Amino acid sequence: MIPYGRQQITQADVDAVSEVLRSDWITQGPTVPRFESELQSYCGVSHAVAVNSATAALHLACVALGLGPGDRFWTSPVTFIASAACGLYCGAEVDFVDIDPETYNMSVEALASKLELAKREGVLPKVVIPVHLGGQSCDMQEIWALSEQYGFRVIEDASHALGGTYLGEPVGSCRYSDIAVFSFHPVKIVTTGEGGVALTNDAELAERMSSIRSHGITRDADKMQCAPDGPWYYEQLELGYNYRMTDIQAALGASQLQRLDDYISRRNEIARRYDAELLGLPLILPHVRETVYSAFHLYIVRIDPVLSPVSHLEAFELLRENGIGVNLHYIPLPVQPFYQRMGFRIDDFPCAQHYYATAISLPVFPGLSHSQQEVVVKTLQRVLSA
Ligand SMILES: *Cc1c(COP(=O)(O)O)cnc(C)c1O
Repeated sequence: MIPYGRQQITQADVDAVSEVLRSDWITQGPTVPRFESELQSYCGVSHAVAVNSATAALHLACVALGLGPGDRFWTSPVTFIASAACGLYCGAEVDFVDIDPETYNMSVEALASKLELAKREGVLPKVVIPVHLGGQSCDMQEIWALSEQYGFRVIEDASHALGGTYLGEPVGSCRYSDIAVFSFHPVKIVTTGEGGVALTNDAELAERMSSIRSHGITRDADKMQCAPDGPWYYEQLELGYNYRMTDIQAALGASQLQRLDDYISRRNEIARRYDAELLGLPLILPHVRETVYSAFHLYIVRIDPVLSPVSHLEAFELLRENGIGVNLHYIPLPVQPFYQRMGFRIDDFPCAQHYYATAISLPVFPGLSHSQQEVVVKTLQRVLSA
C-alpha cells in the first residue's frame, strides 16, 4: 500500500537522537531550547514553546488567552479533533464557521457574516482558530482585520503548514495572529515522534505558556511571591500540566528541520506533477491562492459528482483495493457523535458537507518516488474512466 503520508528518518536523525541518549540530559536539557530557537529563527517569530503534541500547544494557547467557562470560540468544521477539543478543555463553548469552497479553509465571508449576527445577539467569540488545511494558509490578513473589528484573539492551527508562506512571510511568523501552532506527528511536515510547538510575538503569552507547560512552577526568584527559604525552593504559581517535550524528541526535530526546505520543494514538485497529470479527469484539483506558498501536507482532490462515472465511495474503495492508501481529511466535526449530541447539524455547514461527500487525500510525502506517483496517477485514470 502506498500511504498518504510517511515520515523520513535519516542516519543524521538517528545520530542526533543517539547523541542526546548518551548525554546527561534526555529531558529538560539544552536541546529543547536549541530546537525552539531554530524554529523561532526559521519562522521569524520572537518566542517558541515546544511541547509534547500540537494538541497540548493548542490547549496552552487557549489557556494563555484566558479562554474559560462562559466564553465562546470558533474553528473550522473541516479539521482534526484537536482544533476544537482544545477550547472545550477550558470549559468554553464551540461553534464552527463553514469553509471556503475553493480552499476548504475557514471562509472569511462566512466568518464576517457570522460575526455580524453574533454581535447583534451579544454572543461574539473570544477566540477564533483558523486551520491551514493541507498546508495552505488561511486568509490571515482578512481574519486579523476582523479580529480588530470584533475584538477576538486568533490562534492559527498551522499543524499542516510548517515551511509554507503567506504574503511572502513564513507561516508561524504570527504577523496576523496571537499564537500559531505546529504539530510534529510523523505524518506532518517534520516529526519528533509526538510533539508540537506554540509560537508568539507576545512575551507575556510565551511566559504564561511555558509556565503552564510545566506545572505552573517557577524557579526564577524574580517571579516568586515569597522569599526562598533554601536552595531547594521553587513555587507553584498556578495550575499547570506536564506538556514538556523531551530532549530526545527535540534532537530529532532539530535534525529534521535542516531538511525542511527540501521537503517543501519536494512536496510542491509532487503537487505540480499531480496538477499536470490529473488534468482532464473528473476531479476538482487543489486551488492555491496567489498569496500562499503551500506546504502541501495534503494533496486533496474532489470527485466531480456530475462528471465522475463512479461515486466518491466507489472511487475511494477502488483506490484502496489497488494499493493506494488514500484518506479523507477530515470527517467534519459536526458529523461526529460527540458534536451531534451537542446539537450540531451538518446541514448548517453546506460547504463542509459537500466537501465531505467528495474529498480524497492522495499520497504526498518527500519519500514518494516518481514511479510510485505514476502508479497513483495510472490507478486514478483507470478508476475514473467510464
Ligand atoms: C495533527 C493535527 C493536530 C494535532 O496534532 P498532535 O501533534 O497529533 O496533537 C491538530 N490540528 C490539526 C489540524 C492536525 O492535523
